[in-house]
Amino acid sequence: MARKYVDCREVPGSTCSVALSADTEDELITAAIEHAKTCHGQQDTPEFRQQLRQMAKEGPPPG
Ligand SMILES: [Zn+2]
Repeated sequence: MARKYVDCREVPGSTCSVALSADTEDELITAAIEHAKTCHGQQDTPEFRQQLRQMAKEGPPPG
């Protein structure tokens, strides 16, 4: 399975430069939710998880 990542720099209004990557989308979403709750005060909702799935890209994180 291709590695996937989400890059916080792509979040509108975010000043965070963290990128998270994992081998599976489920792992990636879980890690991203934890990061978002801790660093962004974000709520863990089905809608937010859906947003993260749409943000997830295949390949190694840039930089
Ligand atoms: Zn972040």
